Amino acid sequence: MSTLNVQSSCGDENEQGTLSVTQALNNMLNAVQEKSGVEQVHLTDAVDRILAQAITSPVNVPSHRNSAVDGYAVMQADLPTNDDIRTFKIAGRVVAGHPYKGELKQGECIQIMTGAQMPELADTVIMQEHVEVDADSIRIDARHSAGQNVRQAGEDIQMGQTVLQPGIKLTPPQIGLCASLGISEISVKTPLTAAVFSTGDEVLSIGDAPREGCIYDSNRYSMISALKKLGCKVLDMGIIADDPDKLRQAFKLAASNADVIFTSGGVSVGEADYTKQVLSQAGAINFWKVAMKPGRPVAFGKINNTTFFGLPGNPVAVMVTFYQFALPCLQKMMGLNQPLINPIIKAQCTTPIRKIPGRTEFQRGILSQSDSGKWQVSTTGKQGSGILRSMSNANAFIILEHERASVKKGEWVSVQTFSGLF
Ligand code: AMP
Ligand code: MG
Repeated sequence: MSTLNVQSSCGDENEQGTLSVTQALNNMLNAVQEKSGVEQVHLTDAVDRILAQAITSPVNVPSHRNSAVDGYAVMQADLPTNDDIRTFKIAGRVVAGHPYKGELKQGECIQIMTGAQMPELADTVIMQEHVEVDADSIRIDARHSAGQNVRQAGEDIQMGQTVLQPGIKLTPPQIGLCASLGISEISVKTPLTAAVFSTGDEVLSIGDAPREGCIYDSNRYSMISALKKLGCKVLDMGIIADDPDKLRQAFKLAASNADVIFTSGGVSVGEADYTKQVLSQAGAINFWKVAMKPGRPVAFGKINNTTFFGLPGNPVAVMVTFYQFALPCLQKMMGLNQPLINPIIKAQCTTPIRKIPGRTEFQRGILSQSDSGKWQVSTTGKQGSGILRSMSNANAFIILEHERASVKKGEWVSVQTFSGLF
């Protein structure tokens, strides 16, 4: 029998000499370092930014002793014991923001509102629901404990205490926390600049007139959107034709203006793909075959001091490689001290999936909860790596691990939701 000497392709089901997803990711993570600088921003512009310096509190929180409820402030020594009921004269009223000027005397109480400063000598508050009011006095029974319903000064945060560590992505409650300390300006990491271009003679920008045999560029727009969502500054370099000189110029320009370069297309073995040839001269670039589907060909390396991700051309492969590889690397480059990883949960698969062991598959799925509260997932149907609708209709990746074989209906699978990623 005669055989052909052919190259392997993305469609081949088993192949030697490829990297696993974990190996590829580790190689990339080991090759990138934090690249961001530091800038000052007003607190109202700081959400989703990465904190550059620890926040220590310049004050005690709360700054003064105050009441946790609406009620009556008394002295603990006056509280009735056993089965006693005691009457207190209402000597005054204190509301938040207006400290009480007088001094509490034995046998008296001060009506107090939530957040109002505790009058001097008062140390206990009786909730208004627990008293019997009679014109200018109240009666309370013996169920109360000394010191109840009072927030002590510094009980939440003490002056000088570190409340936030650098390297976190600031959330709304953390912004509120800084505000509660009276902090208006904070140091955050500067955004990364990402240069993005697509390659291919067949690729058109939105707004271009349709041309026979051509397609509209989707990759550049999905990548730019993903980068903007991560807080990167984007240098949109458009579409570069399959022309070695133009590609060379584009890489040169991108490398001297950006921290990271993203391209799509041109990293497989296509005849018109000059990217590989040009890149081999431009920097230290690896062309990897990763044992994954979709997304097998991925180029990664450095051009001078700029990190380069050469993602595949197929639109779904771009998204999968972006989220599985580029996202963790970008988070490290941005200075996040703990990369935000979306949790992977187990769900019951309601559709059978064909799979052979030896590569990791990222099927696009729809995750939902059954009436009994069980997580279940189905695929979005056709899973071709060019079918972007499989991704836009999905809310999760169904991750079929490297060694896993076909999935029968009803089997449990690993699912990574898009919420948080997108
Ligand atoms: P390539 O790796 O350059 O051979 O591209 C693989 C496939 O992805 C081809 O069908 C291309 O037409 C398609 N493709 C490449 N770049 C893009 C892009 N920017 N947007 C949409 N499809 C693309
Ligand atoms: Mg191409």
